[in-house]
Amino acid sequence: MTTMESLIGLVNRIQRACTALGDYGGGDTSFSSLWEALPSVAVVGGQSSGKSSVLESIVGRDFLPRGSGIVTRRPLVLQLHKTEEGAEEYAEFLHLPNRKFSDFAVVRKEIQDETDRVTGKSKQISPVPIHLSIYSPNEGQPESIVQDIEMMVRSYVEKPNCIILAISPANQDIATSDAIKLAREVDAPGERTFGVLTKLDLMDKGTNALDVLEGRSYRLQHPWVGIVNRSQADINKNVDMIIARHKEREYFATSPDYSHLANKMGSEYLAKLLSKHLEAVIRARIPSITSMINKTIEELESEMDHLGRPIAADAGAQLYLILELLRAFDRIFKEHLDGGRPGGDRIYGVFDNQLPAALRKLPFDRHLSMQNVRKVVSEADGYQPHLIAPEQGYRRLIESSLNYFRGPAEASVDAVHFVLKELVRKSIGETQELRRFPTLQMELAAAANHALERFRDDSKKTVVRLVDMESSYLTVEFFRRLPQEVEKAASGPGGPVSPNVDRYTDGHFRRIGSNVSSYVGMVSETLRNTIPKAIVYCQVKEAKQSLLHHFYMQIGKKEGKELAQLLDEDPSLMERRVQCAKRLELYKSARDEIDSVSWAR
Ligand code: GDP
Ligand code: MG
Repeated sequence: MTTMESLIGLVNRIQRACTALGDYGGGDTSFSSLWEALPSVAVVGGQSSGKSSVLESIVGRDFLPRGSGIVTRRPLVLQLHKTEEGAEEYAEFLHLPNRKFSDFAVVRKEIQDETDRVTGKSKQISPVPIHLSIYSPNEGQPESIVQDIEMMVRSYVEKPNCIILAISPANQDIATSDAIKLAREVDAPGERTFGVLTKLDLMDKGTNALDVLEGRSYRLQHPWVGIVNRSQADINKNVDMIIARHKEREYFATSPDYSHLANKMGSEYLAKLLSKHLEAVIRARIPSITSMINKTIEELESEMDHLGRPIAADAGAQLYLILELLRAFDRIFKEHLDGGRPGGDRIYGVFDNQLPAALRKLPFDRHLSMQNVRKVVSEADGYQPHLIAPEQGYRRLIESSLNYFRGPAEASVDAVHFVLKELVRKSIGETQELRRFPTLQMELAAAANHALERFRDDSKKTVVRLVDMESSYLTVEFFRRLPQEVEKAASGPGGPVSPNVDRYTDGHFRRIGSNVSSYVGMVSETLRNTIPKAIVYCQVKEAKQSLLHHFYMQIGKKEGKELAQLLDEDPSLMERRVQCAKRLELYKSARDEIDSVSWAR
C-alpha cells in the first residue's frame, strides 16, 4: 500500500467515525472535531471556466478513487447565468432539469437532500458534484439567491482547512477571474489556493499564458497548473478520458510555449500536486487527530463500562455472570439488614414500637371486667359453684385472654415481612450491575418474594406456637404465690363471715379478674421478648442466609437457552451498546491506521 492510499483509508475511517458520531462540529481556526480536522477541496471559478471538467478529470483518475471521500462531502459546482432585464430570478439543478427554484431556502434544502441521496443517510462523502445554475438578470449587484449562495460558498471556502482549486480560463483576462477574486479575499497569502488555468488551447494565436503560469501575473505559494480539458466537440464525440489525457500530454510536450514546463502541466500533474499537498496537510494534523481519537476512545470506553460489556455467548460464562449479579444483589441486601444502608432499623422499629403498642392495646380491661369474670367463672362452675378457688374459671379466663396475643404476634410477622420485601425491591434497584437485565430483575424479585413468603409462613406458625405454649402450661409458681382468699376473708376486720356468701361478692370476682390480669401481664412481658426472637430466627436470619437458595438451585438446573433468556437486556440499552461498540471499533481502526501511516515513509 502506498502512503497516499493508506492516508485515503485513514481519512475514510475517520470520516466514518465522525459520521457515526454525528460529529460535524463547528469551530474555525482550531478545529473542534475530527471532521474539522480533515481537509476539504472546493472548486471555484466563473461560468464555463472548466470547473466540472477539472473535477471530473482529477476525481475520475485512480489517484483519488471515486468515493474515497478525499474531496468534499459533495462538491458544489455553481454556474451563474445572466438573463434578460426584468426577468425572474431562479435556480436550477442539473439533476432536476425542469424545476425552477425561486426560494433560496428550498435550494439549500435540495442541496442537502441531494447530497444525502447520493451519499446515503450515512452522510458519507462523495466526489460527485452537484451542479447548480443560477439565472439572474442582475449584473454587478446580485440579489437574494445569488447573494445567499455566494455567502454559502464563501463560508465553505473560508475554512482554513479548505483547499481552493481556483479555475480560470486562459482565454480571459486573469485580472477579471472570479476564482482569483474569491481566492484573494479568503486566502490572501495564497497558501491553500491552487491556481488552475484551463483552455490553454483556446487562446488567440500568438499569445500565451506564461505570465500567469510562471507566477508573474498573480503570485501563489503553489505553482500554477495549466490544463487542456476536453473541448465541447470532444465531449459531443464522446472522447474517452484516457485519450483526452493523452492528447493533453501531447499538447504540452509539443507546445513551443510550454514544452519547457511540460512535466509541471496537465491534469495528471495537478492530481499529483493536490494529493501531495493533501498528504502533507493530513500528516501535519496527525498528532492532533491522534490525540482527539485517543480522547474519544477513552470516552467511548468509559461509556461502554457504564453500559456494561456485551454478554458472553457460552452457557458457562452466562451462569457465572448470573451468579455474580445475584451475589452483587445479595451483598447490597445484607448491607441493608446489617447496617451500612438504611432499612434494617425498621425491623427493630417493629419490635420496639409496633409490637409493644399492639400488646398494650389488647382489650383485657373489658375481658377481665368484674361482670365478664363473674359470667365466665359461673359458666365454668356449672350447677356446682366452686368451693375454694374457681380452678376451671381461672383456666378459662387465662386461655381466652392469651388467645388475644395471636393478633399482635401475627401482625409483627407481617410488618417485618413487609420491611423485608421493601428491602428486596430497594436492593434490586440499587444493584447497578442488574440495571441492564430486566428479565433477571423480575425473576430475582419473584424468587426473593417467594422465599420471603415461605419465611413468613414459618414465622407465623412459630409465633402462634409461642402463644399456644403459654396457654398449654401455666406457671404454677405464680398461683402458689397468690394470697389465700379464705384466710384473708377470715382475718378481715368484719369478723368471720360465711365463706359461701363471701365467695360470690363483687370483690371476689374483682380479685379473680385482677389475678388473671397480672398473670396475663406477665405473659405479655414474656411474649414481648420471645416474639422478636422467633421473627428474627425465622425471617430475618433466613433472609440473610438463604434468601436465594432455591433460586440458585433452579438456575443451576437451567439450560443454555434459559440462561440466555434470563440475561435478556433492555432493547434500547442493547442498541446503545451496539452503536457505542461500532464507534469504538471505527475509532480504534482509525487509530491503528494512523499508527501505520505515521510510521510509513
Ligand atoms: P464549468 O461551467 O466551469 O463547470 O465548465 P465546464 O467544465 O462545464 O466547461 C465548459 C465548457 O468548456 C465545456 O464545453 C467544456 O468542454 C469546455 N472546456 C473546458 N475546459 C476546456 C479546455 O481546456 N479546452 C477546451 N477546448 N474546452 C474546454
Ligand atoms: Mg459545470
